[in-house]
Amino acid sequence: MDMTWFEEMERRIPTGEVRTRFAPSPTGYMHVGNLRTALYTWLIARHSGGKFILRIEDTDQGRLVEGATDVIYATLRKCGLTWDEGPDLGGPVGPYIQTERRALYGKYAQLLVEKGGAYHCFCDKERLESLHGENGIGGYDGHCRHLTREEINEKLSRGVPYVIRQRIPDSGSTTFHDAVFGDITVENETLDDQVLIKSDGLPTYNFANVIDDHLMGITHVVRGSEYLSSAPKYNLLYQAFGWEVPTYIHCSPVMRDQHNKMSKRHGDPSYEDLLAMGFLSEAVVNYVALLGWSPKGEESEREFFTLDELSHSFDIGGISKSPAIFDREKLKYFNAKYLRSMDADAFCAAAEPYLRQAVRNPAIDWKLIAPLVQPRCDTFEDIAPQVDFFDALPDYSTELYVHKKMKTNLENSLEALQQVLPVLEQLEPWTYDSIHDALIGLAERLELKNGRIMWPVRTALSGKAVTPGGAVELCQILGKDETLRRIQTGMEKLAQ
Ligand code: GLU
Repeated sequence: MDMTWFEEMERRIPTGEVRTRFAPSPTGYMHVGNLRTALYTWLIARHSGGKFILRIEDTDQGRLVEGATDVIYATLRKCGLTWDEGPDLGGPVGPYIQTERRALYGKYAQLLVEKGGAYHCFCDKERLESLHGENGIGGYDGHCRHLTREEINEKLSRGVPYVIRQRIPDSGSTTFHDAVFGDITVENETLDDQVLIKSDGLPTYNFANVIDDHLMGITHVVRGSEYLSSAPKYNLLYQAFGWEVPTYIHCSPVMRDQHNKMSKRHGDPSYEDLLAMGFLSEAVVNYVALLGWSPKGEESEREFFTLDELSHSFDIGGISKSPAIFDREKLKYFNAKYLRSMDADAFCAAAEPYLRQAVRNPAIDWKLIAPLVQPRCDTFEDIAPQVDFFDALPDYSTELYVHKKMKTNLENSLEALQQVLPVLEQLEPWTYDSIHDALIGLAERLELKNGRIMWPVRTALSGKAVTPGGAVELCQILGKDETLRRIQTGMEKLAQ
């Protein structure tokens, strides 16, 4: 073996800085759990001024989804999780896509075979299935562990297909340390000789993650706790190569309820789904940060953090062992707070698609509606039901005109509208202030409380008991013609 090549690879590894990586498989969407992993990974890097690396784990060719890598880029960007090295940016330890690293894994597997940590296995799929009824990844009888070098070379020269398996020690135990779960020890006899290189020459995740994390100089590995049971095998690989083990940070799952993990297949929303449901990315990120992590000390009660604030406050010690339950109502609470604190222009821009969808009449300026709904929605999905009346006056009951506190009833509402109609007919120009002054002026002249005029007008214009905005705003937005038409309709209804 040409050891200088391996030595050169070692020399390339950056040292002296915190280096973390997010290593998604390109599935086409981002699970809430994955987003949390990405976020914690990013926060650990940013907190210590280190590097955040993006690596695409696409060796499971059966799971590939067209365009999925772009979804990963777009999602991370939208969340503000900027990366320092990755497939698109390059970097000192590329390539950053596993299928482009394929030649490398074979070399390291060969090195491991030489070091005694792995071996060629020629048992075909059929034989393994007959033994264990499995696909050959798990149960395996160890037959090939004891082949001689000659037997191996002979099979290789005949082109017999093979996989490369990890040689787990027969006895003893393996201990690893996790920053969240502490020390965990397992008996080696409970670990299987897992496949490292598949018969198609591609590595399994279990092998590739160790090689890549080492060669990329990763100091902290953040991932889901489903990988906890494999960690001893990874440690044995690091040991067999003589490499330093990174800090492990395994995160408990994000749950839908007490018993079930969140799962896209069972209808739980992904990050993209949440945005489509009208949640703001910033609110989702803030909420997700707290699903399994909590601030300490003075900040222990604090809920609202920008990404930048999180990167100062985040510490690994605050990550919880217990699974977190994703609570959509709680997310709504975060979202409402974020929506309300947006500046008016930003809200208007973000709400535009929802307003345009809900208000299609081109005569109506949806931009005027935005400030009315901003304080009244928890998510963007709350917009449409509140503004439906702008396009078409619903058929409503005259009971809506009756309001105790406003002291309105059917008769005095009709009288009010009869007074209002000529005032508004003559009104020029049609502005918020002119409408306001005209209606208030009318109430004064008639010596009535404002509500006696405003309530019937708002009811006639909306046909609803609750609206964003009052009578004056509705007049302004609907425009003069439509306002007069709706007041007449109200008078007709009340006259019946
Ligand atoms: N590709 C793996 C996944 O998406 C990454 C696990 C890890 O971060 O090591 O689950």
